[in-house]
Amino acid sequence: MRIGQGVDIHAFGPGDHVMIGGVRIAHSHGLVAHSDGDVALHALCDAILGALALGDIGRHFPPSDDRWRDADSRVFLRHCAALMREQGFTLGNADISIVCEVPKIAPHTAAMRANLAADLGCDTGKISVKATTSEKLGFTGRGEGIAAFAIALLIVA
Ligand code: MG
Repeated sequence: MRIGQGVDIHAFGPGDHVMIGGVRIAHSHGLVAHSDGDVALHALCDAILGALALGDIGRHFPPSDDRWRDADSRVFLRHCAALMREQGFTLGNADISIVCEVPKIAPHTAAMRANLAADLGCDTGKISVKATTSEKLGFTGRGEGIAAFAIALLIVA
């Protein structure tokens, strides 16, 4: 077995929606990012890459590369899934926590789990997506951005 963790943070900026877990959620702000700023997917990618000891998402998809401007982060996740399979692993399970005051995440977690399971080629039962606020404390509490944390357990295929 291999285990990895991932963390990602993006700040709110101009826009009318955020992409989280591959779900477009209408909001008063967007997330500032080179790609689509999908914190949940970025954290999960880093957890998988971490489990494989293959660096981080910035190494595989450099922000300096124009190919990834406004990129759909599900492309990143599918790439990480392919690397996982190449290395002889399959996903045991993944657990993702999203921290923000707004927008409300809970109504969208089922759709997020379905997206992630599709990209990873696994059952939705292996994917957990949870959400919490930070009780108005810190940058997430002040509504300045969104943070996501992920853990992935990989098992020999
Ligand atoms: Mg990111």
